[in-house]
Amino acid sequence: MNPVRGSLRFRFNEQFSADQLPDELDGNEFVAKHENNSIVCPEGECTEKVNVADSEPPQFVCPKGHINPYDESRRFYYDIDTSRAIEELLNEVAIEGQAERDGGLAVVVDSEATFIVVPGDYRDTLLQNLGQYLSGHRNICIITFTNDCRDGIKRFIDRFGGLSMVVQPPNVKRKVSKFTSLVDIRNSVEADYLPENEEVPEDLVQKIHDNPQFVVSELVNYEKIEGNKAERERMEQLSTLAFSQLMNFPLNSLGMADRGNRIPDGFGFIFDRDGSNDPLLILDSKSVSSKTRDYPKITEADDAQYRKYLEIAEDISYQHGITQRAVVFISPEYSESKIHDFLDELGRSDLDEFRVLFMELEALATLLLLRSTHAIDRKIRLDKGRWEQLLYNLIVDPKFDREPDDYELERKNADLIDKRVVVEHISQSLDEQRSKEEIIKTIEEKFKEFDPHEV
Ligand SMILES: [Zn+2]
Repeated sequence: MNPVRGSLRFRFNEQFSADQLPDELDGNEFVAKHENNSIVCPEGECTEKVNVADSEPPQFVCPKGHINPYDESRRFYYDIDTSRAIEELLNEVAIEGQAERDGGLAVVVDSEATFIVVPGDYRDTLLQNLGQYLSGHRNICIITFTNDCRDGIKRFIDRFGGLSMVVQPPNVKRKVSKFTSLVDIRNSVEADYLPENEEVPEDLVQKIHDNPQFVVSELVNYEKIEGNKAERERMEQLSTLAFSQLMNFPLNSLGMADRGNRIPDGFGFIFDRDGSNDPLLILDSKSVSSKTRDYPKITEADDAQYRKYLEIAEDISYQHGITQRAVVFISPEYSESKIHDFLDELGRSDLDEFRVLFMELEALATLLLLRSTHAIDRKIRLDKGRWEQLLYNLIVDPKFDREPDDYELERKNADLIDKRVVVEHISQSLDEQRSKEEIIKTIEEKFKEFDPHEV
């Protein structure tokens, strides 16, 4: 393991006696060996300091005359030079600025963003220190080195919303660079639009934290949101939180007060394991359109705000070398004719490089079920990289048996993603036939638990 990463898996300046030094730190360049100059006499209650007698074998001798066998692990200890490892890390991932230590954190504040390095495992005390940065700063990127630390902090930052994310090796440099491009996007968008400051409802985050499947049962119950603004807003919050649960997905809340501006609710990247493909996603639950609502206009003639937004996304993609861009609508249901109106308009514009996904709420719920069902997790070994790859493919090239309507959408670089598509895509992406059948069965059973309409 890379020595910087290896040493940062432990807490700030953590010390080890010679016999406790973990194997992975043996020979690590950020670990130093020290001699203990005040070894306490091992004899009973004695508090004297011993000398090491140069006998063969050596012995501990104290001024009171106690003689004890020499013990290397009492004489030497090791500690980690965490600050130097962090300095090296910041250098490697091209974060400029001086890190200031704050309890268990190392914090670098620059004009656009705050970077926080969290060495070691998770403990609740970290959150007290983190809280002040999350509430006071806009763009926070937190770098962790152990899974429990990442997961613990991610749950915490979700409730603050905004552009905060947790990244972890491998590929920290790339992930940090994606984060800074999100900051760029946020700044460009905000230069044109005044964002509504939407607090993420803490009770919802807590419920999802306690029971990830809670959000599934909520999502599948949204049938009709037409004409009910409060319900629509709750669905938007749920969808945003749902996406944030699916992966380490930084969501930039850009929801607007309803003043005629149409801009999406969030955007982010999927980090795939190989690092070659990062689509830019624009999630759009605000302009969800079912039977009666219209899609956002994008023609110049209408002086469309939405068009401007897509142009910003295009500029940013160009600057950061992102080749895949997708707009993801989220809605309980879709009107086929309106889908095609929108796609035709997009096709006539010069913004035709965007893929468009029309994701049904049920499909989002299915993805969450898949992610949170541990039985499935074990069976198909959906480790982080694999899961992200499956999601990536679902967005850029879903595998499922297409019907004539689906082909028509595909020709327009679009797909309608419903529950069936999600299940087929996941099962077609797996090799083992037995796993496929089990996944389909598990999903069907789970849905019966949650969905009041299934009989
Ligand atoms: Zn003694």
